Amino acid sequence: MGIIAMKFGGSSVADAAGFRRVRRIVERQGGRVYVVLSAPGKRHPNDFKMTDLLCRAHGGDGGALGEIHLRFSEIARALGLGDANGWLAELDASIARSAGWAASRGEWVCARMFARYCGMPFVDAAKLIHFDAAGRLLREPTQRAIREMAARLPCAVIPGFYGSLPDGEIQTFPRGGSDITGALLGAALSAKRYENWTDVDGLLSADPAVCPRAIHHEAVSYRQMRRLSLAGARVLHPDCLAPAQEAGVPTILKNTFAPGNRGTYISDRVQAQVACVCHRDGFCAVPLEQLGADARAVASALAAQTFVSAQGEALAALPGFEAGRPACIVSAFGLNASELDAARADVDPIAVRLDDDCARFLVPSNRVRNAVSALHERIIEKVP
Ligand code: ASP
Repeated sequence: MGIIAMKFGGSSVADAAGFRRVRRIVERQGGRVYVVLSAPGKRHPNDFKMTDLLCRAHGGDGGALGEIHLRFSEIARALGLGDANGWLAELDASIARSAGWAASRGEWVCARMFARYCGMPFVDAAKLIHFDAAGRLLREPTQRAIREMAARLPCAVIPGFYGSLPDGEIQTFPRGGSDITGALLGAALSAKRYENWTDVDGLLSADPAVCPRAIHHEAVSYRQMRRLSLAGARVLHPDCLAPAQEAGVPTILKNTFAPGNRGTYISDRVQAQVACVCHRDGFCAVPLEQLGADARAVASALAAQTFVSAQGEALAALPGFEAGRPACIVSAFGLNASELDAARADVDPIAVRLDDDCARFLVPSNRVRNAVSALHERIIEKVP
């Protein structure tokens, strides 16, 4: 029976009901599963993510530390785990140690609790995921440590998001990096699949908050998923794709809240291109010839974000580098070249560029929702 690497995001383990749901999913799998967990996420839109609370607590915010205690204790009590005092006392004693250490403790406590709840072994990610002194991932020692762990243990619960530096101190991945931990596990173990469980059915054709008629895609290639992630599709961390793809391990996106739904299958075997509208914010548009040397260096590094305005002016979309009008890049995958002029009229962008099968529109930030829904109507909903 093949190995399965599973990763559950913060919204899946946000409360005790989430822990129960995740346990049912893991137990249904049976066999050799290695489960990676994020820290508890938001329970409702105005809630705080545990990782944000921990960063605040590290900065000396006593209220945040109190909230952390309350949330973990509530989960422990509801699951009949006794109290979480031992883990929380350890957390209190070490919260000032380093920013990385503090940020990683949400995953650490969460995985410890889940392992006890399920009666599965806990393995600290600090023993598996290795970084060099500059904070770069060391693939080879990481792979070796994961394989040694799997040779000893037929299943395990592992905190996501962090690993260790050569001096033993904790190093985190970028935010959302538990996806990377899960992919590294799947790749090192040549898993049958890497299941990434979140709170949506997988890849949608647009953000459903903006386009309520967004459709679900059942399959996408690794190549296109990378382009979509870089264009702003938020369903997966872009850095988790390469390890699984290189190892030939398919990634499956699944919904913890609707496990019977089909999800999205990501593999090099998928040929078809999917139609999607994504956006990334935090840019501003600057005429290329007005850029200073520093900004020009940034612009050339961002060659993929050089646009041409309707007046033929070359613009760079720089990530908040210069004071300028805040702008977004809206990427429309699947727009036919013949529809470009009509789409330009719908969106009225500052500038446009075409990359293969993707049209990119630079739009003022305050018009991004309109642009996304107009493009979605044109490409996916086929509104005449
Ligand atoms: N807990 C971390 C975050 O909030 C990492 C993760 O969830 O993957 O970004």
